[in-house]
Amino acid sequence: LDIEEFRKAGYQAIDRICDYYYSLEKLPVVSQVQPGYLRKALPGKCSIPVSHIEVDQKNADSAPEQGEDFQDIQDDYQKLILPGVTHWQHPSFFAFFPTACTFEGVIADLYISSAPNPGFNWACSPAATELEAVVMDWAAKMFGLQNNFLNSSGVGGGVIQTTASDSALVAVVAARSLYTRKHPEIKQEDLVFYTTTQTHSLGVKAGLVLGVQCRALEVEAEDQFALRGSVLRQALEEDKERGKHPFMIIATVGTTSSGAVDRLGEIGEAVRDYPDVWIHVDAAWAGVTLACPEFREKAQLENINKYADSFCTNFHKWGLVNFDCSTLWVKDRRYLTDALDITPEFLRSKHGDAGTVVDYRNWHLALGRRFRSLKIWFVLRSYGIHGFQNYIRQGIELNEYFASLVRASPTFELVTEPSFALSVFRILHETPDSQADGSLSRDSLNELNRSFYAGLSSRPDILLTQTMINGTFCVRFAVGAARTTKKHIDEAWTIVQDEAAAAVKKWSK
Ligand code: PLP
Repeated sequence: LDIEEFRKAGYQAIDRICDYYYSLEKLPVVSQVQPGYLRKALPGKCSIPVSHIEVDQKNADSAPEQGEDFQDIQDDYQKLILPGVTHWQHPSFFAFFPTACTFEGVIADLYISSAPNPGFNWACSPAATELEAVVMDWAAKMFGLQNNFLNSSGVGGGVIQTTASDSALVAVVAARSLYTRKHPEIKQEDLVFYTTTQTHSLGVKAGLVLGVQCRALEVEAEDQFALRGSVLRQALEEDKERGKHPFMIIATVGTTSSGAVDRLGEIGEAVRDYPDVWIHVDAAWAGVTLACPEFREKAQLENINKYADSFCTNFHKWGLVNFDCSTLWVKDRRYLTDALDITPEFLRSKHGDAGTVVDYRNWHLALGRRFRSLKIWFVLRSYGIHGFQNYIRQGIELNEYFASLVRASPTFELVTEPSFALSVFRILHETPDSQADGSLSRDSLNELNRSFYAGLSSRPDILLTQTMINGTFCVRFAVGAARTTKKHIDEAWTIVQDEAAAAVKKWSK
C-alpha cells in the first residue's frame, strides 16, 4: 500500500470496526466454527457457514505467489477471520477474566504500530522510555502504592511487561539472583519457592522454566481458599529441616478460580525470620480495584506496601487497556538490573554508560519491547481516575447483583463469597444417591454441575468458565466487559436458570 491507499484502507478499517461494535451484541459470544475451519476456508473464496466452503486447493497451503488486492484481503478478514473470533468484548462474556478494550487503546495501538521501534534503550526512542516511567508512576499513585515503588523515587520503579506470567518470571529471576548472590554456596536444586494450589499456573511455569522447585501449599475452604501465615510458616520450617532454601513466595490478590486474597499480613509476619524471602504479589486481575479507596482494604493495599518486594497487575485484564499490558513494580530496581543487565558493546550508549537514563531492557527478559505506555497514557487521560474508578465499581456492582440472585435462589449456592467482580456458584440439588440424612454426594453433585455447565457452554449467546476448587466442580461468573449492563445480567440469569432446570430434569430421569 502506498500512503494514499493506506489512508483509504485505514478509513475503511475504522468504519468496519465501528460497525463491528454496533453489531457486537447481536453476534454469538462464542465462535461457531469447527476445528480446522480456516485452513479449509483460505484463501477466502467463500463466506461462512463454513461447511459449504469451496476449497481452492491450489492456494490453500502457501502464501500467494503474486501480491493480492488489499480490498480482497480486508474482505476476507470480515468473511473468514471474524467468524472464528470469540467476542471477549461482548456484553454477555462472563468467562475467564475480562480482556479490556477501549477505543483509546485501539488508537494508541495504531499509533504505536505506525512508528514501530523496539525501545530497549532510552536512546532507541526517548519518548517510549520516558512515557513508561511517567505512566507507571501515575498508575502507582492511582493504586496507592507507596513512594518507593515509583520511578521518580530513583530506588524502585515500574516497568511494563507482556503478561503477568512474564512479570512473575522476572520477579522469580530477580529473587533467585538476589538470594544466590547472598548465599553463593547454595546449590540450585536446594532452592524452593512457594505458591498455593490456587495460584495461577504462572508459578509452576516459572519453576519449570528456571529449573527451581515450586511448592504449592494447600489452602482451605474455611479460609476462602486464601493462604494463611501458619501454613506458610510450617512449610518454611519443614523445608529448612530438609536442607532446602526458601527464597520466595508468590501471593495472590484475586486468584483465578475464586478471587481469593492471600493473607499478606500473615505472610509478611511468617517470613519475618527469613529476611531473604522475596514476596511477589500477583494481582493480575484484581489489582486494578486499588484505584478505588473503598476496595483497598480487601485488596490489602497496606500489606502490599508493607511487605511486597514486587507487585503486578494487568491493565489488559480489567484495566481498560488493550492486550497486552502487564504492569510490574519493584521496591528496588537494582534487583532487576543486577539479575538481568547484560550489556554487550553494541547495546552501550552514551547516556546508559553515564547512568543518566533508564534502559528498560535490563528490567525484563526480552531485548525489544513495545511502546505500551502510550495505551495507558491515552486511557488514563481520556477516562481520568474517576472514569477508571467508575468502570471498576460498575463491574463490582453488577457482580453483586448477580450474586444476590444466586443467594436468593433455592437451586444454587455460592461456593465462595463473591470476590470483587467474580462469583463462583453451582447447583445444589438432591441427586439420586443423596443420603437419607439429606447429605449430598460430592461426586454426584459434581456430575450434575458438569452437565449444567455442558448445557451452558454449548450456547452461543453467553460464555462462562468452569473450575474445580478443592474437588468441587463449580462455575465462574466474571463481570467486566465494558458494555455489560444490568440487562445482560438479567438475561444471563435467565439462561443460567433454564440450563440448571434442564440439567436437573435430565438428572432426575
Ligand atoms: N494471575 C492471575 C490471578 C490470573 O487470573 C491470570 C490469568 O487469568 C494470570 C495471572 C495470567 O495472566 P497473563 O495471561 O497476563 O500471564
